[in-house]
Amino acid sequence: MTELTGSELEQLQQQMLELKVQLQQVLDGQHQKAEPVILDQQAVGRVSRIDAIQQQEMAKAGEQHTTERLMAITRALRHFDEGDYGYCEQCDLPINVARLKIKPEAQYCIQCQSEHD
Ligand SMILES: [Zn+2]
Repeated sequence: MTELTGSELEQLQQQMLELKVQLQQVLDGQHQKAEPVILDQQAVGRVSRIDAIQQQEMAKAGEQHTTERLMAITRALRHFDEGDYGYCEQCDLPINVARLKIKPEAQYCIQCQSEHD
């Protein structure tokens, strides 16, 4: 397995910094959406009330997912600072470059990830 080159590392770091900003923006947006739904009792029927509640639940689930990804990215960026980015946290082998390009915040190599799933 080939290790990451300097420019690949730089690219991945840049990618994660951008992702971090994007995810933070998504979270800010979701906070607004997740505020209590105030409904006009006369204007909306029971069905749209349920709809609104379901949408709120979905927004909450999405927020959790986004928060988790943001945490993973923050963690990966810390590995950059420590100089051990790109290595599997379980077996210490370099994580496949192609995998990192899809999921730069990956903690495990593909083998270890499949054991986790
Ligand atoms: Zn591994």
